[in-house]
Amino acid sequence: MSIKLHPSIDNGFIATKENFVGGVLSCKCDTNTVRVKLSGQTAHNHACGCSKCWKPEGAVFSQIAVISRDNVEVIANADKLVVVDQNAAIKRHACKECGVHMYGRIEDTNHPFHGLDFVHTELSTDEGWSAPEFAAFVSSIIETGTDPKDMDAIRARLNELGLKPYDCLSPTLMDAIATHVYAQNHKSA
Ligand SMILES: [Zn+2]
Ligand SMILES: [Zn+2]
Repeated sequence: MSIKLHPSIDNGFIATKENFVGGVLSCKCDTNTVRVKLSGQTAHNHACGCSKCWKPEGAVFSQIAVISRDNVEVIANADKLVVVDQNAAIKRHACKECGVHMYGRIEDTNHPFHGLDFVHTELSTDEGWSAPEFAAFVSSIIETGTDPKDMDAIRARLNELGLKPYDCLSPTLMDAIATHVYAQNHKSA
């Protein structure tokens, strides 16, 4: 059985390019395409199994990275963008026609990841974006219909691809969140 996780991951992925300067993300609309310019390299690219991230047709995981919000600019058809869920911490701005999420932004200045936007680099034809490093929220794919019996095989495949599976974020990012919480709780008045 061949396990399909995500089209940009299943066949191995394109390596991160040194001194990569960024590129343009495009939604899936043939006309009035929404375009978002990313002025720089992304970081912490990963496969995500949560039910909130946008996934291409048939994919079990999304692929998502972060970039400084200062480096994100909508350069075409911004009027087609709508926020998917106003109550979510991450405001995912999606094209209202094709449904693709163009960027996710955190407006809460106390959030550990405030200042970073979430983007899907597969929406760019440029090559050299930071390659995926791990898989997050792996158990969550059961919530969207994956048979729990398939989980061992899926985790094995992720390991084979070099994407260590975690059921939350990676230790690096979980530590960053906890460090932020500690700092919030020990602010000098
Ligand atoms: Zn679109
Ligand atoms: Zn996600």
